Amino acid sequence: MFCCRAAVSERLGGTLALPNFLQPLREKGFAKEDNPVLHKQILIVITLIGALSAHGTAKDAKSVLEATVKNIGDVKSVQYSGSGAVFTLGQSVSAGAPWPRVEVKSFTRTVDYDKLATRNEGIGPQGPVPTQFLVGDKAWGQAGSNVNPASPTVMAERQLQIWLTPHGFLKAALANKGTAKGGKATQVTFTAPGKQRVVGTISADHLVEKVESWIDNPVLGDMHVETTYSDYRDFGGFRFPAKMVQKQGGFPVFELTITEAKTNVPLEISVPDSVRQATPPPVRVTTEKLADGVWYLTGGSHHSVLVEFANHVALIEAPLNEERSTAVIAEVKKLTPTKPIRYLVNTHHHFDHSGGLRTYVAEGTTIVTHKGNQAFYQQTFKAAHKLNPDRQARAKKKAKIIAIDAKHVLSDATRALEIHHIQGNPHNTGILMAWFPKERILAEVDVYTPLAPNASPPATPNPATVNLFENIQRLKLDVNQIAPLHGRLVTIADLRKTIGK
Ligand SMILES: [Zn+2]
Repeated sequence: MFCCRAAVSERLGGTLALPNFLQPLREKGFAKEDNPVLHKQILIVITLIGALSAHGTAKDAKSVLEATVKNIGDVKSVQYSGSGAVFTLGQSVSAGAPWPRVEVKSFTRTVDYDKLATRNEGIGPQGPVPTQFLVGDKAWGQAGSNVNPASPTVMAERQLQIWLTPHGFLKAALANKGTAKGGKATQVTFTAPGKQRVVGTISADHLVEKVESWIDNPVLGDMHVETTYSDYRDFGGFRFPAKMVQKQGGFPVFELTITEAKTNVPLEISVPDSVRQATPPPVRVTTEKLADGVWYLTGGSHHSVLVEFANHVALIEAPLNEERSTAVIAEVKKLTPTKPIRYLVNTHHHFDHSGGLRTYVAEGTTIVTHKGNQAFYQQTFKAAHKLNPDRQARAKKKAKIIAIDAKHVLSDATRALEIHHIQGNPHNTGILMAWFPKERILAEVDVYTPLAPNASPPATPNPATVNLFENIQRLKLDVNQIAPLHGRLVTIADLRKTIGK
Protein backbone atom coordinates (compact mmCIF):
# COMPACT_ATOMS: atom_id res chain seq x y z
CA MET A 1 0.00 0.00 0.00
CA PHE A 2 3.09 2.23 0.19
CA CYS A 3 2.58 3.45 -3.32
CA CYS A 4 -0.99 4.57 -2.70
CA ARG A 5 -0.32 6.53 0.47
CA ALA A 6 2.65 8.20 -1.10
CA ALA A 7 0.59 9.07 -4.12
CA VAL A 8 -2.04 10.76 -2.01
CA SER A 9 0.52 12.86 -0.17
CA GLU A 10 2.03 14.18 -3.37
CA ARG A 11 -1.11 14.49 -5.45
CA LEU A 12 -1.72 18.17 -4.90
CA GLY A 13 -4.55 19.83 -6.69
CA GLY A 14 -5.61 23.45 -6.37
CA THR A 15 -7.10 24.67 -3.12
CA LEU A 16 -10.83 25.07 -2.92
CA ALA A 17 -12.91 27.71 -1.23
CA LEU A 18 -14.75 26.75 1.91
CA PRO A 19 -18.16 25.53 0.79
CA ASN A 20 -21.15 27.62 1.66
CA PHE A 21 -23.88 25.00 1.54
CA LEU A 22 -24.52 25.46 5.23
CA GLN A 23 -26.15 28.82 4.60
CA PRO A 24 -29.38 28.89 6.57
CA LEU A 25 -32.00 26.78 4.87
CA ARG A 26 -35.43 28.26 4.45
CA GLU A 27 -37.09 25.44 6.25
CA LYS A 28 -39.06 27.63 8.63
CA GLY A 29 -40.83 29.29 5.71
CA PHE A 30 -41.55 25.89 4.27
CA ALA A 31 -43.10 24.71 7.55
CA LYS A 32 -45.41 27.77 7.69
CA GLU A 33 -46.59 27.66 4.11
CA ASP A 34 -46.89 23.95 3.78
CA ASN A 35 -50.32 22.61 3.07
CA PRO A 36 -50.07 18.80 3.02
CA VAL A 37 -53.15 18.31 0.77
CA LEU A 38 -52.15 20.96 -1.75
CA HIS A 39 -48.57 19.72 -1.57
CA LYS A 40 -49.65 16.18 -2.35
CA GLN A 41 -51.79 17.36 -5.28
CA ILE A 42 -48.90 19.33 -6.71
CA LEU A 43 -46.69 16.29 -6.40
CA ILE A 44 -49.27 14.12 -8.17
CA VAL A 45 -49.50 16.64 -11.04
CA ILE A 46 -45.73 16.81 -11.27
CA THR A 47 -45.49 13.03 -11.25
CA LEU A 48 -48.11 12.80 -14.04
CA ILE A 49 -46.29 15.36 -16.15
CA GLY A 50 -43.11 13.42 -15.57
CA ALA A 51 -44.76 10.18 -16.59
CA LEU A 52 -45.91 11.72 -19.89
CA SER A 53 -42.43 12.73 -20.92
CA ALA A 54 -40.04 10.21 -22.38
CA HIS A 55 -36.96 12.01 -21.09
CA GLY A 56 -38.40 13.45 -17.92
CA THR A 57 -39.27 17.07 -17.43
CA ALA A 58 -38.50 19.99 -15.19
CA LYS A 59 -39.81 19.48 -11.67
CA ASP A 60 -39.96 21.58 -8.56
CA ALA A 61 -36.71 20.61 -6.85
CA LYS A 62 -37.42 22.50 -3.65
CA SER A 63 -40.67 20.70 -2.87
CA VAL A 64 -39.18 17.27 -3.61
CA LEU A 65 -36.10 18.01 -1.49
CA GLU A 66 -38.16 19.38 1.38
CA ALA A 67 -40.52 16.42 1.32
CA THR A 68 -37.49 14.11 1.43
CA VAL A 69 -36.01 16.03 4.37
CA LYS A 70 -39.35 15.55 6.14
CA ASN A 71 -39.31 11.86 5.34
CA ILE A 72 -35.77 10.97 6.47
CA GLY A 73 -35.37 13.66 9.11
CA ASP A 74 -33.71 17.04 9.39
CA VAL A 75 -30.51 16.24 11.27
CA LYS A 76 -27.57 18.45 12.17
CA SER A 77 -25.20 15.53 12.57
CA VAL A 78 -25.16 11.80 12.01
CA GLN A 79 -23.00 8.91 13.17
CA TYR A 80 -23.20 5.50 11.54
CA SER A 81 -21.34 2.27 12.21
CA GLY A 82 -21.03 -1.08 10.54
CA SER A 83 -18.70 -3.37 8.68
CA GLY A 84 -17.80 -3.97 5.06
CA ALA A 85 -14.83 -3.34 2.81
CA VAL A 86 -12.71 -0.68 1.20
CA PHE A 87 -11.14 -1.17 -2.22
CA THR A 88 -7.89 0.49 -3.30
CA LEU A 89 -8.57 2.76 -6.27
CA GLY A 90 -6.10 2.40 -9.13
CA GLN A 91 -4.29 -0.63 -7.70
CA SER A 92 -6.00 -3.49 -9.55
CA VAL A 93 -3.87 -6.52 -10.33
CA SER A 94 -4.56 -6.04 -14.09
CA ALA A 95 -5.60 -2.94 -16.06
CA GLY A 96 -9.39 -2.63 -16.21
CA ALA A 97 -10.04 -5.08 -13.34
CA PRO A 98 -11.91 -4.13 -10.11
CA TRP A 99 -10.00 -2.40 -7.30
CA PRO A 100 -8.57 -4.86 -4.74
CA ARG A 101 -10.67 -5.45 -1.65
CA VAL A 102 -9.62 -4.95 1.98
CA GLU A 103 -11.98 -6.09 4.73
CA VAL A 104 -13.19 -3.51 7.24
CA LYS A 105 -14.10 -5.21 10.50
CA SER A 106 -15.67 -2.10 11.92
CA PHE A 107 -16.17 1.43 10.70
CA THR A 108 -17.72 4.48 12.34
CA ARG A 109 -18.28 7.73 10.52
CA THR A 110 -19.47 10.93 12.18
CA VAL A 111 -20.63 13.88 10.07
CA ASP A 112 -21.40 17.25 11.60
CA TYR A 113 -23.19 19.20 8.88
CA ASP A 114 -23.17 22.51 10.78
CA LYS A 115 -19.41 22.45 11.33
CA LEU A 116 -18.55 20.81 7.98
CA ALA A 117 -16.62 18.24 10.00
CA THR A 118 -16.17 14.48 9.67
CA ARG A 119 -14.33 11.74 11.52
CA ASN A 120 -13.80 8.25 10.07
CA GLU A 121 -12.60 5.50 12.39
CA GLY A 122 -11.93 2.00 11.16
CA ILE A 123 -10.46 -1.37 12.05
CA GLY A 124 -8.90 -3.26 9.17
CA PRO A 125 -7.47 -6.79 8.94
CA GLN A 126 -4.30 -5.68 10.80
CA GLY A 127 -6.03 -3.61 13.47
CA PRO A 128 -6.99 0.08 13.73
CA VAL A 129 -6.22 2.26 10.71
CA PRO A 130 -5.37 5.98 11.08
CA THR A 131 -8.43 8.07 11.89
CA GLN A 132 -9.36 10.56 9.16
CA PHE A 133 -10.51 14.05 10.07
CA LEU A 134 -12.00 17.02 8.27
CA VAL A 135 -12.86 20.35 9.88
CA GLY A 136 -13.84 23.04 7.36
CA ASP A 137 -10.95 23.21 4.90
CA LYS A 138 -8.45 21.33 7.08
CA ALA A 139 -7.98 17.57 6.71
CA TRP A 140 -5.57 15.17 8.33
CA GLY A 141 -4.96 11.61 9.45
CA GLN A 142 -4.06 10.59 12.97
CA ALA A 143 -2.62 7.40 14.47
CA GLY A 144 -2.02 7.84 18.20
CA SER A 145 -0.19 11.15 18.54
CA ASN A 146 1.13 10.97 14.98
CA VAL A 147 -0.63 13.63 12.87
CA ASN A 148 -0.40 13.70 9.06
CA PRO A 149 -1.81 16.71 7.18
CA ALA A 150 -3.74 15.64 4.06
CA SER A 151 -3.23 17.14 0.62
CA PRO A 152 -5.71 19.72 -0.74
CA THR A 153 -7.02 17.00 -3.10
CA VAL A 154 -7.84 14.70 -0.18
CA MET A 155 -9.39 17.61 1.72
CA ALA A 156 -11.63 18.48 -1.25
CA GLU A 157 -12.78 14.88 -1.58
CA ARG A 158 -13.65 14.66 2.14
CA GLN A 159 -15.77 17.79 1.75
CA LEU A 160 -17.51 16.32 -1.27
CA GLN A 161 -18.18 13.10 0.66
CA ILE A 162 -20.32 15.14 3.09
CA TRP A 163 -22.65 16.18 0.24
CA LEU A 164 -22.82 12.61 -1.00
CA THR A 165 -24.46 11.40 2.26
CA PRO A 166 -28.29 11.32 2.07
CA HIS A 167 -28.83 14.20 4.51
CA GLY A 168 -25.83 16.15 3.25
CA PHE A 169 -27.09 15.89 -0.31
CA LEU A 170 -30.49 17.31 0.64
CA LYS A 171 -28.97 20.22 2.58
CA ALA A 172 -26.51 21.08 -0.19
CA ALA A 173 -29.10 20.73 -2.97
CA LEU A 174 -31.46 23.11 -1.14
CA ALA A 175 -28.73 25.64 -0.31
CA ASN A 176 -27.30 25.57 -3.84
CA LYS A 177 -30.70 25.78 -5.60
CA GLY A 178 -30.70 22.35 -7.19
CA THR A 179 -32.80 21.80 -10.29
CA ALA A 180 -35.00 18.77 -10.81
CA LYS A 181 -36.16 16.57 -13.64
CA GLY A 182 -37.43 13.08 -14.03
CA GLY A 183 -40.42 10.81 -14.08
CA LYS A 184 -41.19 8.44 -11.24
CA ALA A 185 -37.88 9.13 -9.56
CA THR A 186 -36.57 12.69 -9.42
CA GLN A 187 -33.05 13.67 -10.35
CA VAL A 188 -31.86 16.79 -8.57
CA THR A 189 -28.68 18.44 -9.83
CA PHE A 190 -26.63 21.18 -8.23
CA THR A 191 -23.10 22.52 -8.46
CA ALA A 192 -21.14 22.20 -5.25
CA PRO A 193 -18.98 25.12 -4.09
CA GLY A 194 -15.90 23.16 -5.15
CA LYS A 195 -17.42 23.30 -8.69
CA GLN A 196 -18.29 19.61 -8.72
CA ARG A 197 -21.61 18.69 -10.28
CA VAL A 198 -23.71 16.54 -7.93
CA VAL A 199 -26.79 14.60 -9.06
CA GLY A 200 -29.07 12.87 -6.59
CA THR A 201 -31.84 10.41 -7.43
CA ILE A 202 -34.84 10.63 -5.14
CA SER A 203 -37.38 7.82 -5.26
CA ALA A 204 -41.15 8.32 -5.53
CA ASP A 205 -41.39 7.55 -1.80
CA HIS A 206 -38.89 10.31 -0.96
CA LEU A 207 -35.71 8.43 -0.23
CA VAL A 208 -32.28 9.39 -1.54
CA GLU A 209 -31.38 6.30 -3.58
CA LYS A 210 -28.25 7.43 -5.35
CA VAL A 211 -25.89 10.40 -5.39
CA GLU A 212 -23.43 10.89 -8.25
CA SER A 213 -20.57 13.27 -8.80
CA TRP A 214 -17.31 13.55 -10.73
CA ILE A 215 -13.83 14.20 -9.38
CA ASP A 216 -10.53 14.73 -11.12
CA ASN A 217 -8.22 11.74 -11.38
CA PRO A 218 -4.84 11.99 -13.17
CA VAL A 219 -5.48 8.69 -15.00
CA LEU A 220 -9.26 8.50 -15.45
CA GLY A 221 -9.92 12.22 -15.88
CA ASP A 222 -13.42 13.28 -14.80
CA MET A 223 -13.97 10.17 -12.69
CA HIS A 224 -17.52 9.09 -11.90
CA VAL A 225 -18.30 8.72 -8.19
CA GLU A 226 -21.58 6.96 -7.49
CA THR A 227 -23.00 6.15 -4.07
CA THR A 228 -26.12 4.01 -3.77
CA TYR A 229 -28.25 3.82 -0.64
CA SER A 230 -30.74 1.06 0.10
CA ASP A 231 -32.61 -0.68 2.88
CA TYR A 232 -33.65 2.52 4.70
CA ARG A 233 -34.54 1.91 8.34
CA ASP A 234 -35.78 3.92 11.25
CA PHE A 235 -32.85 4.45 13.61
CA GLY A 236 -34.84 6.23 16.33
CA GLY A 237 -36.28 9.47 15.04
CA PHE A 238 -34.63 9.58 11.63
CA ARG A 239 -34.21 7.31 8.65
CA PHE A 240 -30.92 6.08 7.30
CA PRO A 241 -29.88 3.43 4.75
CA ALA A 242 -28.60 0.17 6.21
CA LYS A 243 -26.62 -0.50 3.04
CA MET A 244 -24.34 1.81 1.09
CA VAL A 245 -21.97 1.19 -1.81
CA GLN A 246 -19.70 3.78 -3.37
CA LYS A 247 -18.11 3.21 -6.75
CA GLN A 248 -15.30 5.29 -8.22
CA GLY A 249 -14.23 4.83 -11.82
CA GLY A 250 -16.83 2.08 -12.26
CA PHE A 251 -15.80 -0.24 -9.40
CA PRO A 252 -16.59 -0.28 -5.67
CA VAL A 253 -14.28 1.66 -3.37
CA PHE A 254 -16.43 1.27 -0.25
CA GLU A 255 -19.19 -1.05 0.91
CA LEU A 256 -20.85 -0.75 4.29
CA THR A 257 -23.61 -2.62 6.07
CA ILE A 258 -24.82 -0.32 8.80
CA THR A 259 -25.90 -1.77 12.14
CA GLU A 260 -26.22 1.45 14.10
CA ALA A 261 -26.99 5.08 13.28
CA LYS A 262 -27.48 8.03 15.61
CA THR A 263 -28.15 11.70 15.29
CA ASN A 264 -27.24 14.63 17.58
CA VAL A 265 -23.59 13.61 17.86
CA PRO A 266 -21.81 16.94 17.30
CA LEU A 267 -18.09 16.75 16.59
CA GLU A 268 -15.87 18.72 18.96
CA ILE A 269 -12.55 18.59 17.16
CA SER A 270 -9.80 21.18 17.22
CA VAL A 271 -7.45 21.38 14.27
CA PRO A 272 -3.88 20.49 15.37
CA ASP A 273 -1.36 23.34 14.95
CA SER A 274 0.75 21.19 12.63
CA VAL A 275 -2.25 20.86 10.31
CA ARG A 276 -3.21 24.54 10.56
CA GLN A 277 0.34 25.56 9.59
CA ALA A 278 0.96 22.82 7.01
CA THR A 279 1.91 23.82 3.48
CA PRO A 280 2.00 21.27 0.65
CA PRO A 281 5.57 20.06 0.11
CA PRO A 282 7.09 21.46 -3.09
CA VAL A 283 7.66 19.10 -6.02
CA ARG A 284 11.40 18.48 -6.09
CA VAL A 285 13.56 16.54 -8.53
CA THR A 286 17.00 15.46 -7.31
CA THR A 287 19.53 14.05 -9.77
CA GLU A 288 22.06 11.29 -9.16
CA LYS A 289 24.28 10.01 -11.96
CA LEU A 290 24.28 6.19 -12.01
CA ALA A 291 26.55 5.72 -15.05
CA ASP A 292 27.50 7.66 -18.18
CA GLY A 293 24.20 8.78 -19.68
CA VAL A 294 22.07 7.26 -16.89
CA TRP A 295 20.52 9.41 -14.14
CA TYR A 296 18.34 8.53 -11.15
CA LEU A 297 15.69 11.27 -10.80
CA THR A 298 14.46 11.24 -7.21
CA GLY A 299 13.42 13.92 -4.70
CA GLY A 300 9.92 12.70 -3.89
CA SER A 301 8.17 9.42 -3.16
CA HIS A 302 8.32 8.13 -6.76
CA HIS A 303 11.44 8.15 -8.92
CA SER A 304 12.27 7.99 -12.64
CA VAL A 305 15.43 7.02 -14.55
CA LEU A 306 16.73 9.03 -17.51
CA VAL A 307 18.67 7.22 -20.26
CA GLU A 308 20.63 9.03 -22.95
CA PHE A 309 20.97 7.72 -26.50
CA ALA A 310 22.83 9.36 -29.41
CA ASN A 311 19.96 11.47 -30.73
CA HIS A 312 17.25 11.17 -28.10
CA VAL A 313 16.56 10.17 -24.51
CA ALA A 314 14.24 7.65 -22.84
CA LEU A 315 12.67 7.91 -19.41
CA ILE A 316 11.62 5.06 -17.16
CA GLU A 317 8.36 5.90 -15.33
CA ALA A 318 5.90 8.81 -15.30
CA PRO A 319 4.53 8.62 -11.74
CA LEU A 320 1.80 10.49 -9.87
CA ASN A 321 0.50 13.35 -12.01
CA GLU A 322 1.22 16.17 -14.44
CA GLU A 323 2.86 18.29 -11.76
CA ARG A 324 5.51 15.62 -11.19
CA SER A 325 5.95 15.01 -14.93
CA THR A 326 6.43 18.73 -15.62
CA ALA A 327 9.13 18.94 -12.95
CA VAL A 328 10.88 15.81 -14.28
CA ILE A 329 10.74 17.09 -17.87
CA ALA A 330 12.29 20.40 -16.77
CA GLU A 331 15.15 18.43 -15.17
CA VAL A 332 15.60 16.33 -18.33
CA LYS A 333 15.86 19.51 -20.41
CA LYS A 334 18.68 20.67 -18.11
CA LEU A 335 20.57 17.37 -18.27
CA THR A 336 20.13 16.65 -21.98
CA PRO A 337 18.94 19.95 -23.50
CA THR A 338 19.19 19.06 -27.17
CA LYS A 339 17.58 15.60 -27.14
CA PRO A 340 13.86 14.87 -27.40
CA ILE A 341 12.19 12.43 -24.98
CA ARG A 342 11.39 9.73 -27.51
CA TYR A 343 10.32 6.89 -25.17
CA LEU A 344 8.61 6.66 -21.81
CA VAL A 345 8.81 3.20 -20.26
CA ASN A 346 5.83 2.56 -17.96
CA THR A 347 6.52 -0.17 -15.36
CA HIS A 348 2.84 -0.95 -14.66
CA HIS A 349 -0.61 0.62 -14.77
CA HIS A 350 -1.08 1.32 -11.02
CA PHE A 351 -2.28 4.90 -10.92
CA ASP A 352 0.60 6.22 -8.81
CA HIS A 353 2.95 4.91 -11.54
CA SER A 354 0.90 5.97 -14.57
CA GLY A 355 -0.64 9.31 -13.46
CA GLY A 356 1.98 11.29 -15.40
CA LEU A 357 1.71 9.39 -18.70
CA ARG A 358 -0.74 11.80 -20.34
CA THR A 359 1.84 14.60 -20.04
CA TYR A 360 4.26 12.57 -22.18
CA VAL A 361 1.55 11.68 -24.70
CA ALA A 362 0.97 15.42 -25.09
CA GLU A 363 4.77 15.84 -25.59
CA GLY A 364 4.62 13.37 -28.49
CA THR A 365 6.60 10.72 -26.57
CA THR A 366 6.01 7.03 -27.40
CA ILE A 367 4.75 5.04 -24.40
CA VAL A 368 6.35 1.61 -23.89
CA THR A 369 4.13 -0.62 -21.76
CA HIS A 370 2.99 -4.23 -21.36
CA LYS A 371 0.45 -5.33 -23.96
CA GLY A 372 -2.10 -5.94 -21.17
CA ASN A 373 -2.35 -2.17 -20.63
CA GLN A 374 -2.79 -1.09 -24.24
CA ALA A 375 -6.59 -1.09 -24.47
CA PHE A 376 -6.90 0.59 -21.07
CA TYR A 377 -4.47 3.38 -22.00
CA GLN A 378 -6.10 3.91 -25.38
CA GLN A 379 -9.19 4.87 -23.36
CA THR A 380 -7.51 6.88 -20.59
CA PHE A 381 -5.33 8.89 -23.00
CA LYS A 382 -8.58 10.10 -24.61
CA ALA A 383 -10.56 10.56 -21.36
CA ALA A 384 -12.30 13.89 -20.71
CA HIS A 385 -10.42 16.09 -18.22
CA LYS A 386 -12.82 19.01 -17.91
CA LEU A 387 -12.55 19.36 -14.12
CA ASN A 388 -8.79 19.84 -14.24
CA PRO A 389 -7.72 20.19 -17.89
CA ASP A 390 -4.21 18.82 -18.39
CA ARG A 391 -1.85 19.26 -21.37
CA GLN A 392 -3.27 16.26 -23.19
CA ALA A 393 -6.81 17.65 -22.75
CA ARG A 394 -5.64 20.64 -24.82
CA ALA A 395 -3.21 18.86 -27.17
CA LYS A 396 -5.47 15.83 -27.89
CA LYS A 397 -2.44 14.02 -29.32
CA LYS A 398 -2.94 10.59 -30.78
CA ALA A 399 -1.04 8.28 -28.44
CA LYS A 400 1.88 6.25 -29.78
CA ILE A 401 2.14 3.01 -27.80
CA ILE A 402 4.67 0.19 -28.08
CA ALA A 403 2.85 -2.74 -26.44
CA ILE A 404 5.40 -5.34 -25.44
CA ASP A 405 5.15 -8.97 -24.40
CA ALA A 406 8.11 -10.74 -22.75
CA LYS A 407 10.92 -8.44 -23.91
CA HIS A 408 11.69 -5.29 -25.85
CA VAL A 409 15.03 -3.59 -26.46
CA LEU A 410 15.52 0.13 -26.99
CA SER A 411 18.91 0.53 -28.62
CA ASP A 412 21.17 2.49 -30.93
CA ALA A 413 24.92 2.46 -31.65
CA THR A 414 25.67 3.83 -28.18
CA ARG A 415 23.67 1.58 -25.83
CA ALA A 416 20.93 -0.99 -25.24
CA LEU A 417 18.15 -0.79 -22.69
CA GLU A 418 16.29 -4.07 -22.18
CA ILE A 419 12.71 -4.05 -20.95
CA HIS A 420 11.55 -7.37 -19.45
CA HIS A 421 8.18 -8.57 -18.25
CA ILE A 422 8.42 -9.79 -14.65
CA GLN A 423 6.52 -13.04 -15.18
CA GLY A 424 4.07 -14.38 -12.62
CA ASN A 425 4.42 -11.49 -10.21
CA PRO A 426 1.60 -11.19 -7.65
CA HIS A 427 1.83 -7.37 -7.53
CA ASN A 428 0.64 -6.79 -11.09
CA THR A 429 0.19 -9.08 -14.09
CA GLY A 430 1.82 -6.68 -16.59
CA ILE A 431 4.73 -5.34 -14.56
CA LEU A 432 8.01 -4.53 -16.34
CA MET A 433 11.60 -3.95 -15.23
CA ALA A 434 14.41 -2.20 -17.08
CA TRP A 435 17.88 -3.75 -17.44
CA PHE A 436 21.09 -2.00 -18.43
CA PRO A 437 23.32 -4.94 -19.55
CA LYS A 438 26.55 -2.94 -19.85
CA GLU A 439 26.13 -1.03 -16.58
CA ARG A 440 24.56 -4.04 -14.79
CA ILE A 441 21.85 -1.82 -13.29
CA LEU A 442 18.26 -3.01 -12.78
CA ALA A 443 15.38 -0.51 -12.41
CA GLU A 444 12.18 -1.88 -10.86
CA VAL A 445 9.34 -0.75 -8.65
CA ASP A 446 6.90 -2.12 -6.05
CA VAL A 447 8.21 -5.70 -6.39
CA TYR A 448 11.20 -4.75 -4.24
CA THR A 449 11.43 -1.68 -2.01
CA PRO A 450 14.64 -1.71 0.06
CA LEU A 451 14.45 -1.85 3.83
CA ALA A 452 15.98 0.94 5.87
CA PRO A 453 19.76 0.45 6.19
CA ASN A 454 20.58 -2.09 8.93
CA ALA A 455 16.91 -3.16 9.32
CA SER A 456 16.53 -6.91 9.82
CA PRO A 457 14.82 -8.85 7.00
CA PRO A 458 11.13 -9.72 7.43
CA ALA A 459 10.23 -13.11 8.92
CA THR A 460 8.26 -13.93 5.76
CA PRO A 461 9.87 -12.68 2.55
CA ASN A 462 7.67 -10.56 0.28
CA PRO A 463 6.39 -12.96 -2.46
CA ALA A 464 6.72 -10.19 -5.07
CA THR A 465 10.43 -9.82 -4.22
CA VAL A 466 11.01 -13.59 -4.25
CA ASN A 467 9.38 -13.65 -7.70
CA LEU A 468 11.59 -10.77 -8.89
CA PHE A 469 14.66 -12.75 -7.83
CA GLU A 470 13.37 -15.82 -9.72
CA ASN A 471 12.92 -13.66 -12.83
CA ILE A 472 16.45 -12.27 -12.48
CA GLN A 473 17.75 -15.86 -12.33
CA ARG A 474 15.53 -17.05 -15.18
CA LEU A 475 16.85 -14.26 -17.43
CA LYS A 476 20.43 -14.76 -16.16
CA LEU A 477 20.82 -11.04 -15.41
CA ASP A 478 24.13 -10.40 -13.70
CA VAL A 479 22.77 -7.56 -11.57
CA ASN A 480 25.07 -5.29 -9.64
CA GLN A 481 23.05 -2.23 -8.61
CA ILE A 482 19.29 -1.95 -8.22
CA ALA A 483 17.64 1.45 -8.75
CA PRO A 484 14.18 1.04 -7.18
CA LEU A 485 11.63 3.68 -8.16
CA HIS A 486 10.64 3.81 -4.47
CA GLY A 487 13.37 4.12 -1.88
CA ARG A 488 17.13 4.12 -2.36
CA LEU A 489 19.87 2.76 -4.58
CA VAL A 490 21.05 -0.67 -3.38
CA THR A 491 22.93 -3.71 -4.66
CA ILE A 492 21.82 -7.25 -5.44
CA ALA A 493 23.25 -8.26 -2.03
CA ASP A 494 20.57 -6.15 -0.32
CA LEU A 495 17.84 -7.91 -2.29
CA ARG A 496 19.28 -11.34 -1.46
CA LYS A 497 19.44 -10.46 2.21
CA THR A 498 15.80 -9.37 2.39
CA ILE A 499 14.59 -12.72 0.97
CA GLY A 500 17.27 -14.86 2.65
CA LYS A 501 18.85 -16.14 -0.59
ZN1 LIG B 1 2.11 -0.96 -7.94
